[in-house]
Amino acid sequence: MTAIHPSVDFRSDTVTWPTDAMRAAMAAAAVGDDVYGEDPTVRDLEAWAATMLGKEAGLFVTSGTQGNLIAALSHAQRGDEAIMGEDAHTFCWEAGGMAVLGGITPRPLPTDVRGRMDVAHIRDALRVDDPHLPTSRLILLENSSGGNHGAAIEPDYFKAVHALAQAQGLRVHLDGARLFNAVTALGCPPTAITQWADSVSVCLSKGLCAPVGSVLVGSADFIHTARRQRKLLGGGMRQAGVLAAAGLIALDTMTQRLQEDHDKAQRLAQGLTTIPGLRLNPAQVETNMVFFDLAADLPLSPTDLVQRLQQDYGLHLGGYHHRTLRAVTHYWISMEQVDRLISATRAICQG
Ligand SMILES: *Cc1c(COP(=O)(O)O)cnc(C)c1O
Repeated sequence: MTAIHPSVDFRSDTVTWPTDAMRAAMAAAAVGDDVYGEDPTVRDLEAWAATMLGKEAGLFVTSGTQGNLIAALSHAQRGDEAIMGEDAHTFCWEAGGMAVLGGITPRPLPTDVRGRMDVAHIRDALRVDDPHLPTSRLILLENSSGGNHGAAIEPDYFKAVHALAQAQGLRVHLDGARLFNAVTALGCPPTAITQWADSVSVCLSKGLCAPVGSVLVGSADFIHTARRQRKLLGGGMRQAGVLAAAGLIALDTMTQRLQEDHDKAQRLAQGLTTIPGLRLNPAQVETNMVFFDLAADLPLSPTDLVQRLQQDYGLHLGGYHHRTLRAVTHYWISMEQVDRLISATRAICQG
């Protein structure tokens, strides 16, 4: 049953394969037509995700991008404005979907080094009722913050943003693609954060190892609207229980082991700091991502380093821009492979 896993892939946690337990559950999954609401495994997954995240209902969606887009389309109308961090995934990496398909204007605001917008700044950005202006409707938050070293943002921040949104009649959507990494690092239950959002999406297919899918949760009314939006976007799936079966294992068991991935990231960061010519701050590593810079005087380009790691050592690294590289730890990376990445990087940097 065990598949062949030839590469040691630090590019992202999206590269994770389903576990053997997932493959077995997928093979045995009870299925039905989910567009008719008849797939018992999908229904189980949606109900369980809603319970874990403290919401009334859930919706199995094809991807994190689709979950965020459905949330935006369900909360906001054409002519509305959505506030988000300028480095948020929703602004940077989702093909502008809410603007392209929803007529929703993104309003990116600056963020601090951990991905937080200033709450006073959000308040200042809210629109008055004036026909010249779009209508402020939605605030999009993210946890962990992928664009900021995977920082795990504390519940208080969400509470403060939520209080502002409530007072001003805005909705809050949380892009919780890696929410379980964040709450593992914070040592709090997911609901400590999700209680401060009207809707939440979580990815099953990143560090949680499911092959496909995300779950969007919120009130029963919100999910009713979201189900229509999912169909409109072509995301109505039929015997999707085959995928949801893996998602149930992702939520049940894979959420419990993420500290191991964080320990591997911490070890990697500690190891890389001892290599002359690399710049990073291990204290910034809060979850499963390690970003590091090549010093300006190191006679090596990021592309060279990535190519040599791959060709000479079979280690895949990526996500680099300028002289910054990213390594992400996950289920299919062992501590020994972390050590191999450290020693290989040392050898190449000293060579
Ligand atoms: C990966 C990711 C998404 C989107 O997930 P896809 O399944 O790749 O579409 C959204 N937000 C964040 C923060 C992510 O890391």
